[in-house]
Amino acid sequence: MLDYPVTYRDFSDVPFMNYEPSDDTKGALEVLRWGYESYGDSLVYACSFGAEGMVLIDMISKVKNDAKIVFLDTEIHFQETYDLIDDVKEKYPELRIELKKPELTLDEQAEQYGSALWNRKPDQCCFIRKIKPLEEALSGAVAWLSGLRRDQSPARSNTEFVNKDERFKSVKICPLIHWTWDNVWSYIREHNLPYNELHDQGYPSIGCIPCTSKVTDSDDLRSGRWAGLNKTECGIHTS
Ligand code: SF4
Repeated sequence: MLDYPVTYRDFSDVPFMNYEPSDDTKGALEVLRWGYESYGDSLVYACSFGAEGMVLIDMISKVKNDAKIVFLDTEIHFQETYDLIDDVKEKYPELRIELKKPELTLDEQAEQYGSALWNRKPDQCCFIRKIKPLEEALSGAVAWLSGLRRDQSPARSNTEFVNKDERFKSVKICPLIHWTWDNVWSYIREHNLPYNELHDQGYPSIGCIPCTSKVTDSDDLRSGRWAGLNKTECGIHTS
């Protein structure tokens, strides 16, 4: 049995399991408050700076204004994403935002595994540039936050507010599980939040440059991720 750094032995007594949120934030603020009260500085937000990330950052700043936020800097993101991070740092100067890089530079990765690994073995590339760095970033952390929403994809439809995370041996807290894409954008507009300008150019979901394209299916907001590679997740949210 895995030794989780939490008290929930079988997760049957996890908070918010059968919780029916009724507030404006669909439970997100309450779950965030509980998360920081329970885990304090041991709670890390792994943020991709997508639209959901802007909502969570704004809410987090109201609960714990010096929260720790990690961005997995694969070194192959759009300039618009790096520009957004600068804007967020300026808007929320107390937040501790860390850009976590992989052990291998892109040149070193090309030397060891060949060029454009993302085209040939995207799972291996994600492992090197995302999963390993997140493992390192979460070492010592008891719990982490994610902006997953249930209606993002079938694979995410069973996500709970509080989840046992087998891969990272921790607790994964997802305050936005009940939010729709429209809810996210209403909040962004209502609070005049910064966001990645690529969202206005046909990119609802934004990751690394080689693995992100404009959506091909307007009903599937993630259809522009790893298009044609038979891959839908980077692996961070799968065990
Ligand atoms: Fe590599 Fe693409 Fe994964 Fe980024 S999203 S780490 S480029 S495979």
